[in-house]
Amino acid sequence: MSKPLAVIFVAVILLAGCATTSTPPKEIISSPPRSEGSPSLNWFDEGAAQKSFGWQAFGPVANPGAARPNIQRWPPTAVPGSTSAAAMMTWVPLNNWSARYGIGKPHLLSDLPVTTYAIGSSSGVMVLEIGSRDATWNGVQINLGFGPQFIDDQIFLNGLDLQKNLEPLLCEPPLALPQNNRVIVIDPGHGGINSGTHSVLDGRPEKEFTLDWARRLAPLLEQEGWQVFLTRTGDVDIPLIDRVMFAEAHHADLFISLHFNSLAPEKKPAGLETYCLTPTGMPSTLTRGNADIWAENFPNNAYDTQNLELAVRLHTALLRATGLEDHGVNRARFIGVLHKQRCPAVLIEAGFLSNPSDAKLIETPSFRQKLAEAVATALK
Ligand SMILES: [Zn+2]
Repeated sequence: MSKPLAVIFVAVILLAGCATTSTPPKEIISSPPRSEGSPSLNWFDEGAAQKSFGWQAFGPVANPGAARPNIQRWPPTAVPGSTSAAAMMTWVPLNNWSARYGIGKPHLLSDLPVTTYAIGSSSGVMVLEIGSRDATWNGVQINLGFGPQFIDDQIFLNGLDLQKNLEPLLCEPPLALPQNNRVIVIDPGHGGINSGTHSVLDGRPEKEFTLDWARRLAPLLEQEGWQVFLTRTGDVDIPLIDRVMFAEAHHADLFISLHFNSLAPEKKPAGLETYCLTPTGMPSTLTRGNADIWAENFPNNAYDTQNLELAVRLHTALLRATGLEDHGVNRARFIGVLHKQRCPAVLIEAGFLSNPSDAKLIETPSFRQKLAEAVATALK
């Protein structure tokens, strides 16, 4: 559903300063949609909702004395618990939201086959489909928590989508990476008896390709001033929680897990997927049969904004460098190396080893070099 021409056109007409430094609005006019398609909110903790709400509650909070030296660079963006639930209960007319943030109004892009609107700021353009969680940001697929609703000639967005998706991309300044003493942990997926998936071409294991990608990436990042630590440098199986503890022990500013994908060969899916943790209160894009408890709040949810910005930045750079099909920046809760991280964290699935075309690329060393260069470029 990428609409590059339309996006460029709308980018021109919508180019307007987003109020990155303005004070968040003290209240937002809310009106619950009356659409039959509205998501069920039956898990919601009403006691939490009746506490405070105003948008100021969602701003950065003071670090409560944590000893980690890098924490000041990545201040938590949300108070665990009630705030996300509060935002989720609020459906906001997009016109009101955009006016309050000094952004141009949403513009109708097309009525058929689906109704799409574009909304833009100086940072880029988001294209929204009425009734669908699919959206694009500067032509790249992203995933909303809830489909926008069209009621009484107005577009309504869920408050949590505004807080966790639109604000970070349209209104926040671009992700500011640490300038000094910056530490990154690169996590080559699998290892040892945990081979990961296998190439449909010749059975070579995923663990081999993830480690090679990481080894190519490390020196490139070092050239950019990063102190780089790999969770494994050989063919060893490391429990997921140990990979998280490894990042914690090394005071990582960023954590990136490297993987390749697989699905039943008859479906022949291909392309790039990038994952970060689902914000509290939203459904995940992918559950792989695991429980997806919307109310759950993990340590890594403190970095929802940075997670999304980092994922979008890496995903965009990798798409440009490789030409892989775009399977989107997606959200998941079950990924063990992400949810307990205490720094921004992303997992990349750089193509499907179950797809013959992708597998051929992944088995080519120059392609893995491209993957490494794209990640390093994104983190310059
Ligand atoms: Zn994997």
